[in-house]
Amino acid sequence: MRVLLVEDDDMIGRSLSQALESNGWSVDWVKDGLLAQSALADGDYACVLLDLGLPKRDGTEVLAKARAQGNTTPVLVLTARDGLDDRIAGLDLGADDYLLKPYEFRELLARMRAVIRRRDGAAHSLIGGGDLQLDLTTREVLVRGERSALSAREFALLHALLERPGAILSREQLENRIYGWGEEVMSNAVDVLIHGMRKKLGPDAIRNVRGLGWRAVTTLAVAGATPDAGGSAA
Ligand code: CA
Repeated sequence: MRVLLVEDDDMIGRSLSQALESNGWSVDWVKDGLLAQSALADGDYACVLLDLGLPKRDGTEVLAKARAQGNTTPVLVLTARDGLDDRIAGLDLGADDYLLKPYEFRELLARMRAVIRRRDGAAHSLIGGGDLQLDLTTREVLVRGERSALSAREFALLHALLERPGAILSREQLENRIYGWGEEVMSNAVDVLIHGMRKKLGPDAIRNVRGLGWRAVTTLAVAGATPDAGGSAA
């Protein structure tokens, strides 16, 4: 999944990007409030990690503007400002959660999962339904309840497809969800990924909708099953 990191401190930004990437995130990192605004307007992020003390435009302004424009991306504020007024102001402006520096990286990951889950409308960690579910905590897919592990990109792909069941996502939308800015994306990268996923999930789990893109199917055909004719000879 793709995360926007807004952090002007080089050391914090670099170590946080590396830690997130090694946990399977695609990270777009910007260092000032203006760049954050344009990234938010263009990008499709699972979540935003927002520092408040930023050059060019304060984080609270970035947040207020994004919400005023109808952007509902979950925002987790990471800041050293520990005044009660600042915390309340941040939440009132539309932050989904607040974490004071310094924090434990594991806690950050857990809070990111929580704000994303809430946006997905799930009180627990499973999204999708029917035969095909995705566990946001363990990053496993469940095919008829049977769990298997996913690579970071496979997870990002399925998360995008299962977030709004039945929705058709274009190649560009999927690429935006799976890959960060710095990454070279081969023109057939999404096809290769989906080809691999069909082997894992079954051939009909991700359907191509000609000219439009792909959608996930949550009712899977049982392999090798013969349809019941329904009648019996008397
Ligand atoms: Ca700062």
